[in-house]
Amino acid sequence: MLGTQAMIPAARPIIGDEERAAVDRVMRSGMVAQGPEVAAFEEEFAAQLVGGRTCVAVNSGTSGLHLGLLAAGIGLGDEVIVPSFTFAATANSVALTGATPVFADIEADTFNLDPVSVRAAVTDATAAIMPVHLYGHPADLAGLQGVADEAGLQLFEDAAQAHGARYAGAPVGSFGTFGMFSLYPTKNMTSGEGGMVACEDEEIARGVRLLRNQGMEKQYENELVGLNNRMTDIHAAIGRVQLTKVEAWTAARQANAAWLDANLSGVVVPPVRQGCTHVYHQYTVRLAGASGAERDRVVAALREEHKVGCGVYYPIPNHELVSLARFAPEHELPVTARAAAEVISLPVHPSLSQEDLERIATGVTTVVGAGS
Ligand SMILES: *Cc1c(COP(=O)(O)O)cnc(C)c1O
Repeated sequence: MLGTQAMIPAARPIIGDEERAAVDRVMRSGMVAQGPEVAAFEEEFAAQLVGGRTCVAVNSGTSGLHLGLLAAGIGLGDEVIVPSFTFAATANSVALTGATPVFADIEADTFNLDPVSVRAAVTDATAAIMPVHLYGHPADLAGLQGVADEAGLQLFEDAAQAHGARYAGAPVGSFGTFGMFSLYPTKNMTSGEGGMVACEDEEIARGVRLLRNQGMEKQYENELVGLNNRMTDIHAAIGRVQLTKVEAWTAARQANAAWLDANLSGVVVPPVRQGCTHVYHQYTVRLAGASGAERDRVVAALREEHKVGCGVYYPIPNHELVSLARFAPEHELPVTARAAAEVISLPVHPSLSQEDLERIATGVTTVVGAGS
């Protein structure tokens, strides 16, 4: 029977008639590059997701990090402390400015930067700390802000996975010098490709706006050396529709997570820290004590025997990647290493049916129970 069942996908972007109609409207207008749709998207995103902070849209989340860092003055000679247990875009964007990404360890429960490890990584060259709100759970912003204040550092937020997550009542992306949200299709909302930079003040916002457009505010009067990282009105039109839906999708993710919390056995389910709102970009469980190979066998069995499309985010810590190994710290990052071996992300997206949830729970119980 299982042989004929369709795979439950690990992620499923939801693109509806409204998104298609919005694209059509922009295409028919004949003006498709950055224009009024982008401006409207920036204002609507700001009002809905970051408490009114000025937002600047760009063509990807990675561009958002890169330009945010440049606008904040990060460059050659600076060190920026980042997690190693994240997507490589976090450290890549630091390295692309000429600065050095310095990898710190994470907390075992939330998988996010550990302020104690961050404090130990501070040197005279440290300019900033850039936590990731991994899987949609806020990093320890109070703890990290404390380290930043103590050492006179800036704080930046990689909120690529955390649209709508809250820390102590305030939305992520509203804490640091800037906060970046990705709008890639597998993220909690999408514009096709895109990124949004929420800026602490008008100076940072102006910097990001200049950098995304060849350093121009007035055409052909280039003030600084910039890139073309503009968002198109076509992408912004998709993003504006998705903004009207993301809150309901987040509620569905949270309901799916609550069901999985109550019905999974044999794995450590993701905790939510007091005062935090988790938006479950991923629902990531731990196979406590497993080796990477044991975890990979569980993932393969869930996929093959139960058609549960689970994923591993991220199997190789950034400091062990060929591209970033030159930035590896001399000491171990033991909590990062353990997480990379133990994590499995199960489907949690808003399109799951009750039947899907039950299949996920049965699969986990069967596979983990059999393997242990
Ligand atoms: C997706 C992601 C990015 C990059 O966003 P893109 O839109 O894919 O460029 C950066 N950081 C993290 C943690 C991400 O998950």
